[in-house]
Amino acid sequence: MDYQEVCQVYRDLEKTSKGLEKTTILAKFLAKIKTEPELIYLIQGRVFPDYDEREFGISEQLAIKAISKSTGFNESRVVSEFKKLGDLGLSAEKIMQDKRQSTLFSKKITTDKVLANLRKLPELEGKGTVEHKLNLIIELLNSASPEEAKYLVRTLLADMKVGVGSGILRDAIVELVYQPKDITEKKEKALQIQEAYDKATDFAEVFEKAILNKLGEISLNPGKPVKVMLYPKAENIEDAFKIVGRPAAFEFKYDGFRMMLNKQENKDITIFTRRLDNVTNQFPDAVKYASENISGKTFIIDCEAVGFDPKTKKYRPFQDISQRIKRKYEIEKLEKELPIELKIFDIIYYNGKSLINEPFKKRRELIEKIVKSISYKIQLAEQLITGDEKQAEEFYDRALDEGQEGLMAKSLQAPYKPGARIGYAVKIKPEGEDFDLVITGAEYGTGKRAGWLTSFDVACNSDGELLDIGKVSTGLKEKPEEGLSFLELTKLLKKIIIKEDGRHVFVKPEIVLTVQYQNIQKSPSYSSGYALRFPRVRALRPDRGIQDIATLKEVEKEARKEL
Ligand code: ATP
Repeated sequence: MDYQEVCQVYRDLEKTSKGLEKTTILAKFLAKIKTEPELIYLIQGRVFPDYDEREFGISEQLAIKAISKSTGFNESRVVSEFKKLGDLGLSAEKIMQDKRQSTLFSKKITTDKVLANLRKLPELEGKGTVEHKLNLIIELLNSASPEEAKYLVRTLLADMKVGVGSGILRDAIVELVYQPKDITEKKEKALQIQEAYDKATDFAEVFEKAILNKLGEISLNPGKPVKVMLYPKAENIEDAFKIVGRPAAFEFKYDGFRMMLNKQENKDITIFTRRLDNVTNQFPDAVKYASENISGKTFIIDCEAVGFDPKTKKYRPFQDISQRIKRKYEIEKLEKELPIELKIFDIIYYNGKSLINEPFKKRRELIEKIVKSISYKIQLAEQLITGDEKQAEEFYDRALDEGQEGLMAKSLQAPYKPGARIGYAVKIKPEGEDFDLVITGAEYGTGKRAGWLTSFDVACNSDGELLDIGKVSTGLKEKPEEGLSFLELTKLLKKIIIKEDGRHVFVKPEIVLTVQYQNIQKSPSYSSGYALRFPRVRALRPDRGIQDIATLKEVEKEARKEL
C-alpha cells in the first residue's frame, strides 16, 4: 500500500475529536488492510505490537538533523520553524513545502518501505549508529511528500496526535467485523475483542483472528508479556466480603512492584513489569530465585518484588527500590544494596496450559506445590482463608504492624482476567489517600533552586484525555542521597520537554508520580474541575505508564466521599 493512503487516514482522524467518527474512519481503513493487518501498527504510531517495547531511539536533535539534511535547509532554519510551530512534524511539512516549490518531485513510498526502515532503527548499536539511523530516516524523507514527512517525523518521535487509543481501535474492529445491530451486541463484541487483546497485546493479531472468526486461538505465551489483572478498592473488610464473597482469601498487600515471571521451555526466565517492559537484565537476583526455586517447564507467574534492608531485614517502601527498574549499569552493586524478595501470589500458565479460567483457589494450590520458599529470596504471599470478619481484621492489623500497605481480599472461585480492573479481588488500605498521576509540565525554581524543576503539573486521565488536577512541589529532596531529588526528576523531565515558556515547561506525559494529598476540592483552576490540597510526591513510578494513572471517575469518587 502507498504510505500516502495511511497519511490520508491520519489526516481524517486529526480532523475530528469525536470518538464515533474516528471509529468509522478506522473501520473503513481496516476493510482495506484485511490482508495486511500489520498496518494497524502505523495507525497506532508504531511499527511493532504493543507488547514489544523496542524504541526508535530518535531524539528531537537527530530528527532536526535528518530534516535539515534531506531538505538542504540548515538546522537553524528547522529549529526556528520548530520554535514557531511547537511540533517537529509540522515543521518538517512546512519546510518541505517550501523546498518542493523549487524542485517539485516526489517518488512514492510504500508502507512496506516505511515499516522496513523504521524497524531497523531499534536494532542498531555500536559505532556508526547515529549515521546509520540518519541514513534510514533520510532515505524515507527524500521520497516523502510534505504531509508524509509530517507523519513520519511524528511517528519517529512517538507523538502522533491523531487521538487513536485502544478503545477506538477495538470499536473499529467490532464495527468492521461484526457490524453489530444494537448496542447490546456492540458491547458484547467489544468485550470479546478486549479480552482477546488483553491476552495478545497485539491489535494486528486480534484483527486477523477476528476476521477469520478464530479469536479463541489467541492464547498466552510465556516470553510474550501479558497485561496483569488489577484490583478495585474496598472500603473495609465488610465491603470486601460483599464484593468477593465469603469465605475469601486475604493476603498481605506488599509495597513493592509487580513482576510477571515468564519461563519458556529450555530457556532462562524473562521478567516483565505491568507496563510490559522487559526488566530481566535489571533483576538477575529475581531470575536466579525463580529459576532455582520454581519447578516447571513453562510458566507465567504473577508476583510482587519487595525491597528489604540488607542489614536489619526490614521491608522498605517501593520508592527505595524503584531505581532498580531502569538501571542499566552497576546492577550487581544495586542488587546487594537494594535486595528484593519475591512474593508469589498467582499463576496464569503452567506446563503448556493456560490457567486463567481456573478458580483462584486451584491456582494458589498449584503455586503452593511448585514454589520452594526461602526467606528473603522467594516466598508465597502470606495468606489467610476465612469467612470471619474478626479474623480478617486481625490479619489486617498484622499486615500493617509488619509495615505492609494493607490487604488484598480475593475471591476463591474467580478466574484471572488480564488487563481488567475487576472485583475478582480487591485491595484494602488505610485512609491517607494517594493517586498515581502523570507530569504534564513543570516550573524552574529560583534562588538556590535555580536550574532545577521544582513544581510539577500533574494530570489524571479521562478516556484518553489528560486533565490537570494540581501542582505538586513538596516531597522531593534537595540532596540526592536522601531520596527522590529535584535533580533526578529534573534530569528525567529535561529529556522530554516539548515547549518552554519562560520558567515553565511542557513535557511529554510519560513520568508517573504517586502523589499523596490531604483532601480534594472542586476547582475551576484545573481542567479536571478538581484540585488536590496539600499534595506531596510519595514516589516516582518508573513501572507505570499513562494507562495506569488515576481516572477522573476515581477522582470524582474520592471527592464525593469527602463531602
Ligand atoms: P496501589 O497503588 O494501591 O498499589 P495499583 O493501582 O498500583 O494500586 P492495584 O492492582 O489496584 O494496583 O492494587 C494491587 C497492587 O498491589 C498490585 O498491582 C500489586 O502490585 C500489589 N500487590 C501487593 N501484594 C499483592 C498480593 N498479595 N496480591 C496481589 N497484588 C499485590
